[in-house]
Amino acid sequence: VKAAPPAAPAIDAASAKRALAALRAAVGKDWVFASDDAALDTYRDAYAIAPPADTRPWAAVAPANLKQLRKVLEAARRHKLTLWPLSTGRNLGYGGAAPRQAGAVMLDLKRMKRIIEVNETLAYAVVEPGVSYLDLAARLAKLGGRLWVDSTASPWGGPLGNFLERGVGYTPYGQHAETQCGLEAVLADGTVVDTTANGRAKTAHLYRYGHGAWLDGLFNQSNFGIVTRIGVQLMPAPAGYRPYLVTLAAEDDLGALVEALRPLGLDGRLAGRPTLMSLARAAAYGVTRAECQPGSGPLRADTETRLIAEHALGHWNLYGALYGAEAVIDASVGELEHAVRAVPGARLHFAATRAGDAAFQCRAALMGGTPSMDEYRTLDWVGAGAHLDFTAVLPFDGDAARAASRVAREVCHAHGFDYCAEFQLEARALRLEVRVVFERDVGARQCAAHATLAALGARFASMGHGSPRAHLAFMDDTAATFKRGDDALMRSCEAVKDVLDGQGVLAPGKSGLWPGRYTHRRK
Ligand code: ADP
Repeated sequence: VKAAPPAAPAIDAASAKRALAALRAAVGKDWVFASDDAALDTYRDAYAIAPPADTRPWAAVAPANLKQLRKVLEAARRHKLTLWPLSTGRNLGYGGAAPRQAGAVMLDLKRMKRIIEVNETLAYAVVEPGVSYLDLAARLAKLGGRLWVDSTASPWGGPLGNFLERGVGYTPYGQHAETQCGLEAVLADGTVVDTTANGRAKTAHLYRYGHGAWLDGLFNQSNFGIVTRIGVQLMPAPAGYRPYLVTLAAEDDLGALVEALRPLGLDGRLAGRPTLMSLARAAAYGVTRAECQPGSGPLRADTETRLIAEHALGHWNLYGALYGAEAVIDASVGELEHAVRAVPGARLHFAATRAGDAAFQCRAALMGGTPSMDEYRTLDWVGAGAHLDFTAVLPFDGDAARAASRVAREVCHAHGFDYCAEFQLEARALRLEVRVVFERDVGARQCAAHATLAALGARFASMGHGSPRAHLAFMDDTAATFKRGDDALMRSCEAVKDVLDGQGVLAPGKSGLWPGRYTHRRK
């Protein structure tokens, strides 16, 4: 494992005492956790790939509301602390609830968990950072279930944190950056910015654009402010929905399927956000690796053949769903069948033949607006498992998909991991998520997982495919792959950072963006 990230600036004992006193004055003594407090240990990455000391926070503070949060910011400015915000702290696979730097103060927003509004007529909710998908789904169910929640496969996380990390779900509302509408953020100096203020009070969460500069995106994956609420547009429960699975008989049919589906994607007939999973990724819902093949090393071809036969899976498995009235769904099935017929050996399956199929059940729930925790069963693939995720975006193109998949498989196998991957299909792009499933807290496997992610990052960058979401340990590397020419993009971001947070209080190093006082980090 490479060198630990730089630690937050150290403070002397007397200043530390004063800083803790100021934080306690801001939120009450029960909500500040210092180094002698066991609760501080919970601010870690449950799926760590580095020794805990590398990212051990100095303290944690949990404000209950905006007023307390502003007092925390005041204390941080005065005592020169750096704050690392967390909403529900479930950024699993990308660094979890750890900070980027040892010595940071965790700003835990879980106590700010009001569902401020649910508007059933116009189908949206307004939520605070601590609201999880499970919380929101429970509220919507209580109201009669007329609105769906689009949950990630990790529903103890929440809409606000997920939007900020450009996360996705699996219903037609699955691109979370597009269903967010209006937000409130607090800047490092305590200024509260409401992006709905520009002449759209009555359409705050209905229409994304006011007048003039549109700032919502400024707070997405950045360290320009602390987001304290967002509007989330919700999908009205459709008249019906029908989940499906397409299995592919040959590895190389991946390209042909992608080509066959592109016309549907481009003109909006590919409903929702279908997910195309590799064999090991799909099989892991129902079996463990040891059950498939004893010993180490990637799955052999004969094991794959047996898995496919026993579980009626494919080399690739497309989980999707169709939505609407029965007649509309029937028409969509016809189009899907037509596309699938273009791929020899591809088969279309529906729920009636997938009873007892754990992967199908989990994906059908998620695509049907019901949060499911079953995704975590896939980590049992290696016993007590953990995961590390690498995400890249590619064009919706068969050759690109096949080439990327070949590289990702080769890298995973070279490091002793099975090829667990999924393509998430959007209208014009494919999001490839490669999941490294490794034995939790086992040093050698943590190192191998880290090396796999590093190799994937380098190989994909050399192919010209960017990564839209980076693990904490790879944020600088990922940012570097986006460097072009005079690097005007990053320099513009640094200029914004200097204006909005000149002191560098908020999340230093987030997305590779360092405050000015870390001059050695600025390239
Ligand atoms: P989730 O709620 O989805 O579990 P996390 O709390 O793990 O999300 O946060 C994911 C990342 O997003 C964190 O590493 C942090 O950098 C950033 N983040 C989380 N909440 C906020 C917030 N309210 N304001 C600004 N950045 C945040």
